[in-house]
Amino acid sequence: MESERIKKAVEFATKAHEGQLRKSGEPFINHPLAVKKILTEWGMDEDTIIAGVLHDTVEDTSVTLEDVKNEFGETVAFLVDGVTKLGAARSGMRDIDTYLPETRDNFLRLMIALGADIRVLIIKLADRLHNLRTLKALPPDKQKKIAKETLEVFAPLADRLNMGQLRVELADLSFSYVDPKRYKYLKDLIEKINKSGEKSLHRIEGEITELLNKEKINFELSGRVKSVYSLHKKMAKYNQNVGEIYDFTALRIIVDDITTCYLVLGLIHSLYTPLGGRIKDYIALPKQNGYQSLHTTVITPDKKIVEFQIRTHEMHEYAERGLAASFYYNEQKLTENYKEGKIQHLPTNLLWITELQSAAAQLREGKKVDLNKLKLNLFADKIFVYTPKGDIIDLPYGAMPLDFAYRLHSEIGEHVVGVKINGKISNLNKKLENFDIVEILTSKNQTPKESWLQKIFTAHARQKLRQQLTKIKGEK
Ligand code: MN
Repeated sequence: MESERIKKAVEFATKAHEGQLRKSGEPFINHPLAVKKILTEWGMDEDTIIAGVLHDTVEDTSVTLEDVKNEFGETVAFLVDGVTKLGAARSGMRDIDTYLPETRDNFLRLMIALGADIRVLIIKLADRLHNLRTLKALPPDKQKKIAKETLEVFAPLADRLNMGQLRVELADLSFSYVDPKRYKYLKDLIEKINKSGEKSLHRIEGEITELLNKEKINFELSGRVKSVYSLHKKMAKYNQNVGEIYDFTALRIIVDDITTCYLVLGLIHSLYTPLGGRIKDYIALPKQNGYQSLHTTVITPDKKIVEFQIRTHEMHEYAERGLAASFYYNEQKLTENYKEGKIQHLPTNLLWITELQSAAAQLREGKKVDLNKLKLNLFADKIFVYTPKGDIIDLPYGAMPLDFAYRLHSEIGEHVVGVKINGKISNLNKKLENFDIVEILTSKNQTPKESWLQKIFTAHARQKLRQQLTKIKGEK
């Protein structure tokens, strides 16, 4: 059932976009309507859905923000404005390879835009999802560009918000455009492995069902299909060795409460042998994005390796829909606190959102914010470091000076003799930290060293160094 306000927004947007076509030739209004449908499925509040319907009007039609405010109120206007600004902040950044802001200034702009209201991000994600679903209509170079951006920015963002379902769809769809051959290869591989394991999986499901029934436990059991992109990333981590990937087959068990989660874990371990070091209690220690579950990998008597994920219904809902689910659960209507950015009832793991929003509010008021103090949990596995000239380079958390050097250029990498961090001479095995200023010292006489492999964190730098080492050996 649709409210009068939403109906009015649809009419308003239809009129505003009249005569505009998408690249596919269909009427443009189909796009905002699809965004509306996605936001509704996610269980978002009315203002967000309306802002989703109107999200392209201010940028692409003669409608002004003032019109939106007069017709639909301040909150909707605020959200539409946020979406428009986010677009502007992004277009200020050069191309996709340097997407993550290159200067402090862009970074701030992005933060302000991002921090404006978390619902702006959610609208943006719905917008991107529909654009990706309809990417076929665009020319190939644009397809690649949008897909790559989605893979590098929007899918990780969905992950930060623990929107698992969305992350998988965004990542797999994008990957199919970025690297179609690899996508097809891995998709086929997944199918093949699943098929070959079908029978034993059936048997395991039977054994588990019997066991849990005997204990009179209420449960839902389902298989989880590995996503293509996550397999791609894992394969890269394990040197393309499928044999080392243990979570190909995973079974999910959803139960009523937390105590039962632990009980089920114990029961599974009484039935099959757990693999050491692979039991993870994300219930007691949730992931940074709020994800909760118990994970264990076991080996069955016939040597089949299976991962189990055990969680409650609420944890499951949250793992699939993330932040959107918490909106749904809390039926968070617009309150004064909300407008001020103080979201209530957010899981503690998502409190960074509040932090980001209050920082954004301070920036908007022209107050100084110490970026070092601000926890950039949005990019939790990334750090941002500066070149002496002030360019920002993003690296994965754990990166060291050689990673930085090879990232700048492999010719810089091979001639490294030392590093200055924040103006002081430092070691090559020092982990870089957020906002370090890193200066690489080079000498033409230096050649790459085998021992550097121990002082490298990123696959990129390792690959470059290996190539150089092989070349040197060939020359000898
Ligand atoms: Mn759009």
